[in-house]
Amino acid sequence: MTTRITHWIDGKPFGGTTERSGDVFDPATGEVTGKVDFADVATVDQAVASAATAAEAWGRASLTVRSRVLFRFRELLDARKEEVAAAITAEHGKVLSDAVGEVTRGLEVVEFACGIPHLLKGGFSENVSTRVDVYSIRQALGVVAIISPFNFPAMVPLWFMPVAIAAGNAVVLKPSEKDPSASLLIAQLWAEAGLPEGVLNVVHGDKVAVDRLLEHPDVAAISFVGSTPIARYVYETGTRAGKRVQALGGAKNHMVVLPDADLDLAADAAVNAGFGSAGERCMAISALVAVEPVADELVSKISERMASLRTGDGRRGCDMGPLVTRQHRDKVASYVAAGVEAGADLVVDGRDQEFDGASDGFWLGPTLFDKVTPSMSIYTDEIFGPVLSVVRVDSYDEALELVNANPYGNGTAIFTNDGGAARRYQNEVQVGMIGVNVPIPVPMAYYSFGGWKSSLFGDSHAHGTEGVHFFTRGKVVTSRWLDPSHGGLNLGFPQNT
Ligand code: NAD
Repeated sequence: MTTRITHWIDGKPFGGTTERSGDVFDPATGEVTGKVDFADVATVDQAVASAATAAEAWGRASLTVRSRVLFRFRELLDARKEEVAAAITAEHGKVLSDAVGEVTRGLEVVEFACGIPHLLKGGFSENVSTRVDVYSIRQALGVVAIISPFNFPAMVPLWFMPVAIAAGNAVVLKPSEKDPSASLLIAQLWAEAGLPEGVLNVVHGDKVAVDRLLEHPDVAAISFVGSTPIARYVYETGTRAGKRVQALGGAKNHMVVLPDADLDLAADAAVNAGFGSAGERCMAISALVAVEPVADELVSKISERMASLRTGDGRRGCDMGPLVTRQHRDKVASYVAAGVEAGADLVVDGRDQEFDGASDGFWLGPTLFDKVTPSMSIYTDEIFGPVLSVVRVDSYDEALELVNANPYGNGTAIFTNDGGAARRYQNEVQVGMIGVNVPIPVPMAYYSFGGWKSSLFGDSHAHGTEGVHFFTRGKVVTSRWLDPSHGGLNLGFPQNT
């Protein structure tokens, strides 16, 4: 039986008819489990109109009222995170524990946004000129849109929506059409928390919905996360239409292992960060740069660990789930073939494994290549699957040069016991998020998340203070309250006395 997955407009499911829809699969069985409505221009307009109306009152609601809704939402999401996680596993395929982890990281942004009264505090300077005070305030933008990718159907919307809402905006979310259900559960929890109707709307769909959001005159800002070509397109189109845009793109994250590193720690980290969520993470490690002479030992430790991994249905306690769609599975498998063809050493072949799941699931096991060179497509392209490539280099300088030559700059990690080398790396590497003996250095909610180069278009990262700034505009007020001595006429430029 397939379920119809509808939009969420004005605080409730939107029951209107739809001309277009998309199939939603359970990747562990290969079955179609849902049909998701695809929004046309009129439906997007309806969601934006609902948000625009709601934004007026919500932007005027007191900080106390807004933060209370945030606190209630935090409690509800925490209480029901397993339910949200189950919806993620059913449509994305990632294992349940990983899905719970994703919701928990999103919850941390909600907790950060609960502090909005403090975060929106402005500055105040008394008596900058005689009897003149200056203060700064930050105000909401109005309607903002969030466009999110398939790989974190809860966490990525939650990077933005709590901060945007807490700051007094109304939101239109366009989640990935591949796994849309988690966003609806989250919308329902906001409604239960007392968020007024229209402050959060969800429209499903594809390019038609995205393009309408990008050109809609009532949408003030766009937060996008997805692949680099679409991020660049969203940034260019949105800014041309006069909007504030932050567009986070793809990644090719390198883990550099220096000869003095703890190789057991590095091998554990490479396996966890390479194959967690089947490599479908923008912070996954896909290139392991082994600084000789450690490569042989490291590859052997990694392949030993890979032998114990169980790939299968995410509801069965496996380590790794299926890929999101058959098409994506086949694309990733084609990279494995291309790596062999290009002459890399295929140490572990994920195509040739046993899977703990239905035969029609979108399976591909963890795959390890050694002796990969920078010209091979398994190195140059973002594969977004469970394929880890080991590149051997002779020195720290060669490793750094390789990482900095890469067009992406999302995350990177260095494994070493030399504090000086680690410090040099964090200073010299052209990447936005860096781990020292930490393979997936996702910043806490009160810092900001974002990469450099082709991994981010725009100048604001997600959440933390940059998120608060992105969803607000500053004003500076210069005020003088009259006292009995009036200054009289003076047409000169204001001078401070
Ligand atoms: P995607 O670019 O295919 O889709 C992202 C969103 O854009 C979806 O909502 C989709 O419906 C929409 N979209 C797709 N094609 C479009 C088009 N032609 N015009 C307008 N909108 C379009 O990305 P995905 O496959 O869902 O997600 C995986 C990608 O996201 C990877 O590249 C990954 O690295 C990246 N990602 C980046 C980060 C980050 O923080 N930098 C985080 C998560 C995922």
